[in-house]
Amino acid sequence: MKVAITGSTGFIGRHLTAFLISKGADVQAIRREDLLPERKLDLIALLNGCDAIINLAGASINCRWSKTNKLKIRDSRVKTTRTLVQAINELGNKPEVFISVSAVGIYTDKKEIWSEREGAYDEGFLSKVCQEWEAEARKIHDDVRLVIPRLGVVLSKDGGAFPKMALPFRLFAGVRIASGNQGFSWIHLKDLLEIFWTIINTKKIKGVINCTAPQMCDNLIFTYSMAKESHRPVFLSIPSLLFKLMYGERASIFTKGQKVFPYKLLNYGFMFQFPEIKTALRELCH
Ligand code: NDP
Repeated sequence: MKVAITGSTGFIGRHLTAFLISKGADVQAIRREDLLPERKLDLIALLNGCDAIINLAGASINCRWSKTNKLKIRDSRVKTTRTLVQAINELGNKPEVFISVSAVGIYTDKKEIWSEREGAYDEGFLSKVCQEWEAEARKIHDDVRLVIPRLGVVLSKDGGAFPKMALPFRLFAGVRIASGNQGFSWIHLKDLLEIFWTIINTKKIKGVINCTAPQMCDNLIFTYSMAKESHRPVFLSIPSLLFKLMYGERASIFTKGQKVFPYKLLNYGFMFQFPEIKTALRELCH
C-alpha cells in the first residue's frame, strides 16, 4: 500500500510516517514546495498510484495572531488543500481515500456535547479557518472516499501541546484556567495513529469523524488529573481577562473549549487504548 502525506515533517506527520512504515506501507512525503500551485504537474506525478492521501499540512497556531500570521495559518491550510485537491481530481490513477484533517475548534463552545451529527460552528478565527479548510477538501470528486477527521488536542510525550502543558506542573506552577468549565477535547497520539489506520482500511468510514477520547473532559478535570499524576499541587486560577491581556485573540485557545464526542468512531467499533484522561496522563507523565 502506498500512502502520500502532506505535513509529514510535523509532529503528527513524523509519527504517522513511522507508524505506517511499521505496518508495511510505502510512504510518499509531500513537502511544502510540492504544494505550490505552479508545481501541480510534479505533484500529480508524486500522487499518481497512491492508495491513500493524508493531508496534515498547516502552519502552527502557536504564534502571535498578527494579520500576517493569521493569513499564514489560513493559507497554509486552505490554499494547500485547494492545490492538493485539484491535483487529485486530475489524477489518472486516483487514491481510494483522501483523509484531510480539521480540528474540533470548528465547533462553538455554546453547547454541552457535540457529535458529528450536529454542526453549529463558532464565529471565531480558528473555526472560520477550519470551515474554509474543510470546504476545500469537499471539492474532491466523489469517486474518492473523503474522510475529515476533526482532531482534538493530540497528546504525546514527545511533541505537540502536552510537553508545554506539563511544564508548569513540573515547576510547581500548575493552574486552572478561568472557570475551568471550558471543554478540553483531546486524543492520545497512539489512538490517533490507529484511527488513521482504521480509516484507511475501512471503506464504510466516510465524512466527518470526531477524533477525541470518549470521556468528556474540561479544564478543571484536566488540571486536577494532571496535578494528581505529576504529584504537584494546583495553585490558583488565572482569570480569562489576564489571558486576553497576555495573548489577545489567541487567548481563546485557552479560555474557550468544546466538548466533542467520537460518536461515529464508537459506532464503527473503534476501541480506544486511552478513553479516559486519567489513564492517558498516567502514561504521559511517567
Ligand atoms: P506541526 O506544526 O507539527 O506540523 C505542520 C506541518 O505542516 C509541517 O510538516 C509543516 O512543514 C507543514 N506546513 C506548514 N506550513 C505549510 C505550508 N505553507 N505549506 C505546506 N506545508 C506546510 O503540526 P501537527 O503535526 O501538530 O498538526 C498537523 C495538522 O493537524 C495541522 O494542520 C494542525 O492544524 C492539525 N491539528 C493538530 C492538532 C494537534 O494537537 N497537534 C489538533 C488539531 C488539529 P515544514 O516542515 O515545511 O514546516
